[in-house]
Amino acid sequence: MAGGFAKDGAVQEQIDATIEDAVKHARDQLPRGEGLKNCEECDAPIPEARREAVPGVRLCVGCQSERDKEAKVSAGYNRRGSKDSQLR
Ligand SMILES: [Zn+2]
Repeated sequence: MAGGFAKDGAVQEQIDATIEDAVKHARDQLPRGEGLKNCEECDAPIPEARREAVPGVRLCVGCQSERDKEAKVSAGYNRRGSKDSQLR
């Protein structure tokens, strides 16, 4: 049964690595620090309700949706990038 345990351990290591990657990725998505009172893109005032709903918010709704569109595009690049890193 010892062999079985070793195999389980290897699988667990892989799962841990995947979770670590996911956590790292999630952390990159999180806004850092204090939210802004004015959009950092267009300087429009950000409503207090939005700042409460989105901790660390830095963009007004309009700029955020623009940013989200870009994020979707670059998520595609990231997927390609992580495939490359597996080949290393
Ligand atoms: Zn803006």
